[in-house]
Amino acid sequence: MNNLYEKKIYAVFGNPISHSKSPEIHNFFYKLYNLNQKYIKIHLSKKNFLKNISFFFKRGGKGANITLPFKEKVFSLCHEITNRAKIAGSINTLKLFENETILGDNTDGIGFLSDLLLKKIVKRKFNILIIGAGGAARGIIYPLLKFGCNIFITNRTFNKAKILSKEFQNFGNIESITLKNLNQMKFNIIVNATSAGIFNNIPLIPENIIRKETICYDMFYKEKNTNFMKFCKNFGSNKVFNGIGMLVNQAAHSFFLWNNIFPNVKKTIKFLTKKKIKKNNKSLKY
Ligand code: NDP
Repeated sequence: MNNLYEKKIYAVFGNPISHSKSPEIHNFFYKLYNLNQKYIKIHLSKKNFLKNISFFFKRGGKGANITLPFKEKVFSLCHEITNRAKIAGSINTLKLFENETILGDNTDGIGFLSDLLLKKIVKRKFNILIIGAGGAARGIIYPLLKFGCNIFITNRTFNKAKILSKEFQNFGNIESITLKNLNQMKFNIIVNATSAGIFNNIPLIPENIIRKETICYDMFYKEKNTNFMKFCKNFGSNKVFNGIGMLVNQAAHSFFLWNNIFPNVKKTIKFLTKKKIKKNNKSLKY
C-alpha cells in the first residue's frame, strides 16, 4: 500500500467492486498518455465509508470514482459540487484540489450523451424512452433534456417515474408514461436503464414499440449481447448497443477533470472489447 502512493493514485470505491472495469480503462489511458499514475479498485465497507474515502485522500489519493451504493451518499465529503452533480443528485467523481478541497462531479450523464454523439445516433427533438427510474436513469435525464431531446420515462413501479418526471420538468420536455401505454408512442431511442440485466431479465415492454429504425441501448453491459439487446434484435431493430461506450465515456470525462486531457475513447473501447478480459478480481479492502 505504501509504495502505491509514490505514483499519483486514483481509485474506484464501491461495494461490490470486483466486477468493475474502471481500473482497466484508466490504466489504459495512463499508458496512452505515458502518465505515471495508478488506478485501483477499493471495496468499501458500508460502515465508516466517508471516513475511509477521506483517509484515501489524506494518504495522497488524487481523485476517485464512486459507484454503487455510495453515489448519493458522498455529498457531505465535498467542499464544492458541480451543477450537473447537484441536478443528478449523485456523485461519481471526486477530485482533490491543492491538497484540501474536494470537488464532487457526475460524469455518467455526459458520458452517456457523449457516447450517443460519438455513435452519431442522437439528434435534437428525438423522442427518447427511458425504462427505469433508478440512479442510472436519473443521471442521464438532464444532459439529454439540455441537448434538446424529449424524454419519456417509464418504470415497473410507475410512481417513481412520475416523481422523476416532475423533478426534471423545468429543464425541458419530459413526461412519465405507463408500460401499458407505451405502444401509443413512437420512440427514436429506447434506453434500458433498469438493473434487470444483472439477473438475466428484461423489462416488460410491448414488442411492437420496436421498429427497424429504433435505436435500442442497454446501459447494462457484458461481453456477449445482453438479453435486452437480443430481444430488440428479435423484434426488428438493427441498431442495438450495450453500455460499454457509456462506461468508457464517463471514465474519459473523469480523466479529463483530473488531467485536463480528453482521452481517445474509440481506442479504449477497441482495447476493452478485443482484449480477453483477465479475471482480475483483486481489490483492496477498506
Ligand atoms: P437502481 O437499483 O438505482 O435502479 C434499478 C431500476 O431497475 C429501477 O427502476 C427498477 O424498477 C428497475 N428494475 C429492476 N429489475 C427490474 C425488472 N426485472 N424489470 C423491470 N424493471 C426492473 O440501479 P441503477 O439505476 O444504478 O442501474 C441500472 C442499470 O444501469 C444497471 O444495469 C447498471 O449496470 C447500469 N449502469 C450502467 C452504466 C454504464 O456506464 N454503462 C452506469 C450506471 C449504471 P423498480 O423501481 O420497479 O424497482
